[in-house]
Amino acid sequence: MSIDVTGVTKKYGDFVALDNVSVTLPTGQLTALLGPSGGGKSTLLRIIAGLDTADSGSVHIEGRDATKLPPQKRNVGFVFQHYAAFKHMTVAKNVAFGLEIRKRPKQDVQAKVAELLDLVHLSQFAHRLPSQLSGGQRQRMALARALAVEPTVLLLDEPFGALDAKVRKELRDWLRRLHDEVHVTTIFVTHDQEEALEVADEIVVINDGRVEQVGSPDSLYDTPANDFVMGFLGDVTRLGGLMLRPHDIEIDVEPGRPGAVQGRITRVLRVGFEVRLSVETADDAEVKVELTRTHAQQLGLVEGGTVWLTPAVGATTVVATQPVPA
Ligand code: ADP
Ligand code: MG
Repeated sequence: MSIDVTGVTKKYGDFVALDNVSVTLPTGQLTALLGPSGGGKSTLLRIIAGLDTADSGSVHIEGRDATKLPPQKRNVGFVFQHYAAFKHMTVAKNVAFGLEIRKRPKQDVQAKVAELLDLVHLSQFAHRLPSQLSGGQRQRMALARALAVEPTVLLLDEPFGALDAKVRKELRDWLRRLHDEVHVTTIFVTHDQEEALEVADEIVVINDGRVEQVGSPDSLYDTPANDFVMGFLGDVTRLGGLMLRPHDIEIDVEPGRPGAVQGRITRVLRVGFEVRLSVETADDAEVKVELTRTHAQQLGLVEGGTVWLTPAVGATTVVATQPVPA
């Protein structure tokens, strides 16, 4: 079973936010919608949720045509970046809310809330108010609330976007573990490639209202469909008309490798265990090269030194059609 988006177009006035998007999101998986800001990720998520309607195209959820269903009939749960909790209600009451409006028996509600608070590791905070929680705890409460009504699909729009880097990282590890326990089909929006690569089973890269590529984190990283995907998923540089990753360049201090391009080191930057070089060659303004500190020391690389660069065997390369971002 899956969520099938077929030929969805969405315009705001003359502006095309989604341009004939078709994508299949398998159920039971954790899928990331990844792309730059303004690309159409939230629009697609809202159309799946039923919070917005497409101008054309259809949405099927688990085989059922949901295109015209209102959000409450789609059995989806959502969490947004800035989660609006009920400020005057305790954490437990916030989580219980969706069940109480559905008039579930009180005992069932209590049992379900206890189970969910345990799942999101907030049992000891059940009687606090949302204002007495940290940002990360509030987002976990939001997830518990969304899961309370047992949605078949959980939609998360940059749920950790407003939090600081360390908490984001903790929450993404936690989301992955939660998903492994609960297996609810989850689609989450992010503009952070590391977050998508670390957490998702499947990534849909969205740019400029279109799907650029769909695949596992490894397949997108290793075999990007085009230079946009390659550049969005990791650092890139340009060598002899090819786009490739800075750590996928062999560097020698003597000529000899077939096809090696000669250059001059213009900058050496040490960052922890790695060394980042800028190398000026005849055709490329500047090639970025990354290697380990140990390797750089063995080669005795210094600013002003002459080197020869070659794409490493097995390097991921695509033909560069656009300038590499600085
Ligand atoms: P993302 O989530 O990838 O950052 P969005 O889906 O929010 O992108 O937006 C895609 C584009 O559609 C943006 O250029 C945005 O300005 C535009 N857009 C989104 N919602 C509206 C709206 N209600 N009215 C007009 N333009 C909108
Ligand atoms: Mg968005």
